[in-house]
Amino acid sequence: MVAGGAWTGRLLAATGWSLPIEPVRGQMLLFQAEPGSLQHMVLAAGHYLIPRRDGRILAGSTLEYTGFDKTTTPEAEAELLRFAGELVPALARAPVEHHWAGLRPGSPHGIPAIGRHPALRNLYINTGHFRNGVVMGPASARLLADLLLGREPILPPADYAPERIG
Ligand SMILES: Cc1cc2nc3c(=O)[nH]c(=O)nc-3n(C[C@H](O)[C@H](O)[C@H](O)COP(=O)(O)OP(=O)(O)OC[C@H]3O[C@@H](n4cnc5c(N)ncnc54)[C@H](O)[C@@H]3O)c2cc1C
Repeated sequence: MVAGGAWTGRLLAATGWSLPIEPVRGQMLLFQAEPGSLQHMVLAAGHYLIPRRDGRILAGSTLEYTGFDKTTTPEAEAELLRFAGELVPALARAPVEHHWAGLRPGSPHGIPAIGRHPALRNLYINTGHFRNGVVMGPASARLLADLLLGREPILPPADYAPERIG
């Protein structure tokens, strides 16, 4: 199976056929805040704040088409600091514990590609979940298992067939 995230397109290229999966960098900050500083998740202006029970607060994220580059940048840090401080003024004074970046597997319309390779019939693919791979992970794994085992699929497989975007 090929489930190589942002690197899937490169991996599949070796098979003579590939998918338009591109890396989309996302940067996040983790604040050390007092428990209770924020009671709810907040989504606003393309960013979000997520409080943890121990008081830490995640601020995310950026959407950057900068190739296979996982470095963090001062520009993104400033943007997330500004956003967090505007929504929760206490965060303007809270220490930043961690600043990191990851690469999302960007796909057309964010719809994943799940199913068989069109030429190598014993090779399966599960990729392209873009911003929602954690949320879509269980259903994606279930669909792939259904296809592998010849079971009634949990979702219409044609909607996720790799050939749809390949
Ligand atoms: C900042 C940020 C915030 C996010 N927030 C959310 C969120 O709130 N909710 C949500 O649902 N999703 C979120 N996502 C998206 C989610 O993380 C991705 O959609 C998900 O990780 C994709 O899963 P994947 O297994 O396809 O790829 P990945 O998680 O990238 O895993 C692919 C793995 O393949 C490995 N690999 C690549 N090439 C090879 C090779 N040749 N050999 C062996 N291994 C290889 C890589 O090292 C990597 O570990 C976020 C992403 C980022 C960056």
